[in-house]
Amino acid sequence: MAKYNGPVCKICRREGEKLFFKGERCMTVKCAFERKGFPPGQHGKARRLKLSDYGAQLREKQKIKRYYGLLESQFRNAFEKANRRKGITSENMLIALESRLDNVVYRLGFASSRTTARQLVRHRHILVNQKLVDIPSYQTRPGDVIQIREKSRKLEGIHQSIRRIREGQQLPWLLLDKAKLEGTYLERPARADIPVPFNENLVVELYSK
Ligand code: SF4
Repeated sequence: MAKYNGPVCKICRREGEKLFFKGERCMTVKCAFERKGFPPGQHGKARRLKLSDYGAQLREKQKIKRYYGLLESQFRNAFEKANRRKGITSENMLIALESRLDNVVYRLGFASSRTTARQLVRHRHILVNQKLVDIPSYQTRPGDVIQIREKSRKLEGIHQSIRRIREGQQLPWLLLDKAKLEGTYLERPARADIPVPFNENLVVELYSK
Protein backbone atom coordinates (compact mmCIF):
# COMPACT_ATOMS: atom_id res chain seq x y z
CA MET A 1 0.00 0.00 0.00
CA ALA A 2 1.29 3.44 -0.87
CA LYS A 3 2.01 6.05 1.77
CA TYR A 4 -1.04 8.11 2.72
CA ASN A 5 -0.46 11.81 2.09
CA GLY A 6 -3.96 13.15 2.73
CA PRO A 7 -5.28 15.04 5.76
CA VAL A 8 -4.35 12.99 8.81
CA CYS A 9 -7.24 14.24 10.95
CA LYS A 10 -9.55 12.34 8.63
CA ILE A 11 -7.84 9.14 9.71
CA CYS A 12 -8.76 9.80 13.36
CA ARG A 13 -12.32 10.53 12.37
CA ARG A 14 -12.50 7.42 10.19
CA GLU A 15 -11.06 5.20 12.93
CA GLY A 16 -13.20 6.76 15.66
CA GLU A 17 -10.15 7.37 17.83
CA LYS A 18 -7.69 10.19 18.48
CA LEU A 19 -4.42 8.94 17.01
CA PHE A 20 -2.34 12.04 17.85
CA PHE A 21 -0.64 12.81 14.53
CA LYS A 22 -0.44 16.57 15.03
CA GLY A 23 1.38 17.02 18.29
CA GLU A 24 0.23 19.96 20.40
CA ARG A 25 -2.84 20.61 18.26
CA CYS A 26 -4.28 17.22 19.27
CA MET A 27 -4.55 18.50 22.85
CA THR A 28 -6.49 21.63 21.97
CA VAL A 29 -10.03 22.49 20.96
CA LYS A 30 -8.76 22.75 17.39
CA CYS A 31 -8.59 18.94 17.22
CA ALA A 32 -10.86 17.90 14.35
CA PHE A 33 -11.96 14.77 16.19
CA GLU A 34 -13.16 16.86 19.14
CA ARG A 35 -15.08 19.14 16.80
CA LYS A 36 -16.38 16.50 14.40
CA GLY A 37 -16.27 13.12 16.04
CA PHE A 38 -17.97 11.34 13.16
CA PRO A 39 -16.48 9.75 10.03
CA PRO A 40 -15.62 12.11 7.15
CA GLY A 41 -17.65 12.18 3.96
CA GLN A 42 -21.16 12.99 2.87
CA HIS A 43 -22.77 10.25 4.96
CA GLY A 44 -20.34 10.47 7.84
CA LYS A 45 -22.92 11.72 10.28
CA ALA A 46 -25.21 8.80 9.61
CA ARG A 47 -25.09 5.97 12.12
CA ARG A 48 -21.88 3.91 12.08
CA LEU A 49 -22.53 0.48 10.57
CA LYS A 50 -21.97 -2.52 12.77
CA LEU A 51 -18.82 -4.26 11.57
CA SER A 52 -18.44 -7.96 10.85
CA ASP A 53 -15.70 -9.79 12.80
CA TYR A 54 -13.43 -9.50 9.80
CA GLY A 55 -14.25 -5.80 9.43
CA ALA A 56 -13.42 -5.16 13.09
CA GLN A 57 -10.12 -7.01 12.78
CA LEU A 58 -9.22 -5.08 9.65
CA ARG A 59 -10.08 -1.71 11.20
CA GLU A 60 -8.03 -2.46 14.31
CA LYS A 61 -5.04 -3.42 12.18
CA GLN A 62 -5.36 -0.21 10.15
CA LYS A 63 -5.64 1.85 13.32
CA ILE A 64 -2.50 0.40 14.93
CA LYS A 65 -0.55 0.58 11.68
CA ARG A 66 -1.43 4.23 11.20
CA TYR A 67 -0.83 5.13 14.83
CA TYR A 68 2.78 4.04 14.47
CA GLY A 69 3.01 5.44 10.93
CA LEU A 70 3.88 2.20 9.16
CA LEU A 71 3.24 0.93 5.67
CA GLU A 72 1.42 -2.35 5.21
CA SER A 73 4.60 -4.33 4.53
CA GLN A 74 6.42 -2.81 7.51
CA PHE A 75 3.52 -3.64 9.78
CA ARG A 76 3.26 -7.19 8.48
CA ASN A 77 7.01 -7.63 9.05
CA ALA A 78 6.66 -6.41 12.63
CA PHE A 79 3.90 -8.94 13.16
CA GLU A 80 5.87 -11.83 11.62
CA LYS A 81 8.89 -11.08 13.81
CA ALA A 82 6.66 -10.90 16.89
CA ASN A 83 5.10 -14.21 15.91
CA ARG A 84 8.50 -15.89 15.80
CA ARG A 85 9.42 -14.72 19.29
CA LYS A 86 8.55 -16.62 22.46
CA GLY A 87 5.57 -15.30 24.38
CA ILE A 88 2.28 -13.71 23.42
CA THR A 89 2.39 -12.55 19.81
CA SER A 90 0.12 -9.53 20.26
CA GLU A 91 2.18 -8.23 23.18
CA ASN A 92 5.46 -8.94 21.42
CA MET A 93 4.21 -6.92 18.46
CA LEU A 94 3.16 -3.96 20.56
CA ILE A 95 6.41 -3.95 22.53
CA ALA A 96 8.41 -4.07 19.29
CA LEU A 97 6.41 -1.13 17.89
CA GLU A 98 6.95 0.83 21.09
CA SER A 99 10.67 0.05 21.01
CA ARG A 100 11.16 1.59 17.57
CA LEU A 101 13.59 4.48 17.86
CA ASP A 102 11.12 7.01 16.39
CA ASN A 103 8.50 6.01 18.95
CA VAL A 104 10.97 6.17 21.86
CA VAL A 105 12.11 9.65 20.76
CA TYR A 106 8.43 10.68 20.77
CA ARG A 107 7.61 8.99 24.07
CA LEU A 108 10.62 10.63 25.74
CA GLY A 109 9.24 13.99 24.68
CA PHE A 110 11.93 15.09 22.22
CA ALA A 111 9.20 15.53 19.59
CA SER A 112 5.53 16.42 19.81
CA SER A 113 4.40 13.76 17.33
CA ARG A 114 5.72 10.52 15.88
CA THR A 115 6.05 12.18 12.49
CA THR A 116 8.37 14.83 13.93
CA ALA A 117 10.25 12.18 15.87
CA ARG A 118 10.81 10.24 12.66
CA GLN A 119 12.19 13.38 11.01
CA LEU A 120 14.57 13.94 13.92
CA VAL A 121 15.90 10.42 13.47
CA ARG A 122 16.09 10.59 9.68
CA HIS A 123 17.79 14.00 9.76
CA ARG A 124 20.52 12.57 11.97
CA HIS A 125 19.82 14.42 15.20
CA ILE A 126 19.69 11.31 17.41
CA LEU A 127 22.40 9.21 19.06
CA VAL A 128 21.91 5.80 20.61
CA ASN A 129 24.69 4.85 23.02
CA GLN A 130 26.81 7.70 21.60
CA LYS A 131 26.42 6.46 18.01
CA LEU A 132 24.41 8.23 15.36
CA VAL A 133 21.35 6.20 14.28
CA ASP A 134 19.17 7.47 11.42
CA ILE A 135 16.87 4.48 11.04
CA PRO A 136 13.40 5.14 12.53
CA SER A 137 12.61 1.43 12.86
CA TYR A 138 15.81 0.75 14.85
CA GLN A 139 14.89 -1.44 17.83
CA THR A 140 16.02 0.09 21.10
CA ARG A 141 16.78 -2.25 23.99
CA PRO A 142 16.91 -2.07 27.77
CA GLY A 143 19.92 -0.04 28.82
CA ASP A 144 20.10 2.00 25.62
CA VAL A 145 20.76 5.72 26.09
CA ILE A 146 19.07 7.99 23.55
CA GLN A 147 20.51 11.50 23.16
CA ILE A 148 20.18 14.57 21.03
CA ARG A 149 23.35 15.04 19.02
CA GLU A 150 25.59 17.84 20.30
CA LYS A 151 25.16 20.11 17.28
CA SER A 152 21.37 19.68 17.31
CA ARG A 153 20.88 20.65 20.95
CA LYS A 154 19.82 24.17 20.09
CA LEU A 155 16.85 23.10 17.96
CA GLU A 156 13.95 25.09 19.37
CA GLY A 157 11.37 22.44 18.43
CA ILE A 158 13.05 19.94 20.76
CA HIS A 159 13.10 22.38 23.68
CA GLN A 160 9.49 23.38 23.10
CA SER A 161 8.46 19.76 23.14
CA ILE A 162 10.48 18.97 26.28
CA ARG A 163 8.98 21.96 28.12
CA ARG A 164 5.55 20.40 27.72
CA ILE A 165 6.56 17.29 29.66
CA ARG A 166 5.24 17.49 33.18
CA GLU A 167 6.54 15.68 36.25
CA GLY A 168 5.10 12.17 36.55
CA GLN A 169 4.07 12.12 32.88
CA GLN A 170 6.81 9.75 31.79
CA LEU A 171 6.23 6.08 31.15
CA PRO A 172 7.79 3.80 33.81
CA TRP A 173 10.04 2.05 31.30
CA LEU A 174 11.68 5.28 30.13
CA LEU A 175 13.76 7.77 32.06
CA LEU A 176 14.26 11.32 30.82
CA ASP A 177 17.02 13.66 31.93
CA LYS A 178 15.75 17.01 30.64
CA ALA A 179 18.94 18.92 31.44
CA LYS A 180 21.13 16.51 29.51
CA LEU A 181 18.56 16.02 26.70
CA GLU A 182 19.04 12.34 27.26
CA GLY A 183 16.74 9.41 27.86
CA THR A 184 17.23 5.80 28.91
CA TYR A 185 15.18 2.81 27.85
CA LEU A 186 15.05 1.08 31.21
CA GLU A 187 13.23 -2.17 30.45
CA ARG A 188 10.88 -3.84 28.02
CA PRO A 189 7.44 -2.47 28.88
CA ALA A 190 4.62 -4.62 30.18
CA ARG A 191 1.39 -4.35 28.19
CA ALA A 192 -0.17 -2.37 31.04
CA ASP A 193 2.56 0.25 30.65
CA ILE A 194 1.78 0.92 26.99
CA PRO A 195 -0.96 3.56 26.90
CA VAL A 196 -2.73 2.67 23.66
CA PRO A 197 -6.45 1.98 23.29
CA PHE A 198 -6.09 -0.95 20.92
CA ASN A 199 -7.22 -4.53 20.92
CA GLU A 200 -4.08 -5.97 19.34
CA ASN A 201 -5.48 -9.52 19.62
CA LEU A 202 -7.69 -8.69 16.65
CA VAL A 203 -4.57 -8.32 14.51
CA VAL A 204 -3.43 -11.79 15.51
CA GLU A 205 -6.88 -13.13 14.59
CA LEU A 206 -6.73 -11.34 11.25
CA TYR A 207 -3.31 -12.60 10.27
CA SER A 208 -4.01 -16.12 11.53
CA LYS A 209 -6.74 -16.71 8.96
FE1 SF4 B 1 -6.29 13.37 15.29
FE2 SF4 B 1 -7.22 15.52 16.56
FE3 SF4 B 1 -4.65 15.19 16.28
FE4 SF4 B 1 -6.15 15.77 14.12
S1 SF4 B 1 -5.79 17.09 15.86
S2 SF4 B 1 -4.50 14.25 14.27
S3 SF4 B 1 -8.03 14.66 14.68
S4 SF4 B 1 -6.01 13.82 17.44
